[in-house]
Amino acid sequence: MTEDQIQEVYSADNLIEAEYIRNLLTTADIECRIDGEHLQLVSGKVPAQLVAPGIMVHAVNFDRAKTLIDEANQERNRSSETGPQWTCSHCGEKNVANFEICWSCQQEDDTQQA
Ligand SMILES: [Zn+2]
Repeated sequence: MTEDQIQEVYSADNLIEAEYIRNLLTTADIECRIDGEHLQLVSGKVPAQLVAPGIMVHAVNFDRAKTLIDEANQERNRSSETGPQWTCSHCGEKNVANFEICWSCQQEDDTQQA
């Protein structure tokens, strides 16, 4: 990977996320590098969660990489903690799917046909 025209396309929360993104980009044939990775490995003193590893790509791949990362993050957000939602017919608040009563007004979820 040459050093010219390298841009940071994403700043990961931690090395695990950075590896996830690198895997995603590599699978799509986008060459990339994790910036800050070597610092953690060398020092051994910096807690991983304090370092935000940057995902570096060539400028020509920047837009494509960014789109891939955005899509992957949206997918993760949809499928992880939040999950599908239902809207309370009584007060209009949104509730996560595993709530059976509205967190706001305690109305039962009547949107699901059991
Ligand atoms: Zn409600």
